[in-house]
Amino acid sequence: MIIYAIFITVLALIFSILFFLNRKNLRIYSRYLDKIAITIGEEVGTPPLYIYERLRKKIEELEKRIFESEKERRNIFTILNNITDPIIIVRGDGVITFANIAGRDITRPGIEGRKVYDVVENYFLLEMFEKALETGEIQSGDVVMQTNGETRYYDAKVVPIKFDQESERYIIVLHDTTKEKQLDKLRREFISNVSHELRTPLTSIHGYAEALLDDDLSNKELVRKFLGVIESESARMTRLINDLLDLEKLESGDAKFNFSDVNMCKVIERVVTILEPLAEDYGVELYTKCECKSTVYGDFDRLVQLVLNLVDNAVKYTSIKETGEKKVFVKCYGKEDKLVFEVQDTGPGIPEDAQKRLFERFYRVDKARSRKVGGTGLGLSIVKMIADKHNATISFESKVGEGTTFRVYFKKSSQETTDENK
Ligand code: ADP
Repeated sequence: MIIYAIFITVLALIFSILFFLNRKNLRIYSRYLDKIAITIGEEVGTPPLYIYERLRKKIEELEKRIFESEKERRNIFTILNNITDPIIIVRGDGVITFANIAGRDITRPGIEGRKVYDVVENYFLLEMFEKALETGEIQSGDVVMQTNGETRYYDAKVVPIKFDQESERYIIVLHDTTKEKQLDKLRREFISNVSHELRTPLTSIHGYAEALLDDDLSNKELVRKFLGVIESESARMTRLINDLLDLEKLESGDAKFNFSDVNMCKVIERVVTILEPLAEDYGVELYTKCECKSTVYGDFDRLVQLVLNLVDNAVKYTSIKETGEKKVFVKCYGKEDKLVFEVQDTGPGIPEDAQKRLFERFYRVDKARSRKVGGTGLGLSIVKMIADKHNATISFESKVGEGTTFRVYFKKSSQETTDENK
């Protein structure tokens, strides 16, 4: 009986404790619910299910936002990596936190976590970084670096960025100016070349004119000789200016090209008619062999100019050879899908070391020799330009003392040659 009474009492006690605990839990639970409701911007007493739903949505939104910002972060790194200018981000203590691909190209390998002083080998760039660190101001300057065995020029900037009191970064940005520098050098060389080329005939004209003015002009033969020099030098100046204008027109794209199906044999015929008297004068035998059966899609007049420059060079330079036969062969034939125009001469040839510079403006193997034949040093540059405009390629082979052969490879147009092709 007593056992039974104790059992009943314990049970009642357990139930009342449980009831008491439950009520206490419920109170804590509802207090927390209210706190959560306020945190998510709802009112006190909002039903738990509603709070749950709102929480679920909030978590989903947060997950999406984290995913988006991670994506954005990755995109920024991809963009930075695809920028061709080197970018290096450095902490105030000198440790590199990021370098894009181009940045890694100009630093020593394995830059992660290393100090900028250990991986950047350029003294001026490090000095700029030090100065930015010291002054907190943007630093700019010109930097020259050896990258993959090449000298490259950069316009460098070190930009300090302060995020807050403790964290700051220094962005090293280099802009590659090598191309601009090279173009600038070419432009300066070009101006100095043009001035030099114009000054030579002008000095000569001026000198001979002055001599004539000082003379009593009684010696007719001498007067004639001087006038002859003045005439040929002014003609050379005119040629030079014409070539320069032509080159400029071709380069700027202002030169109009009237493309049509052109029969190269007609082009050769036109050029031979122009040059035959000159070849005869110079004692050079000129042979032609035209075997091209299809046409070239091109500009007739420009093709005449290309062929004329090549054949004219062949005749002129062969003529100054002192011994041996003086012959020039002009050919046209088909080879696979190409139409080949060829000029072969038995002239003095071109030394090997000069061959790679042949198409440069004003380049002449032998200045005196070129001047003797009235050259401007621009003929082959023009040939190259015209060939490029026709998507044609040029090759040549030459042996000193034996002669030179130039070949221009055109793409055949589908037309067969007929008399109608210009
Ligand atoms: P240029 O007006 O001086 O002839 P080009 O640009 O036509 O200028 O040619 C450049 C140089 O190439 C010439 O000065 C000459 O030294 C050399 N050259 C061109 N063609 C020949 C050739 N067929 N034989 C020998 N040298 C040549």
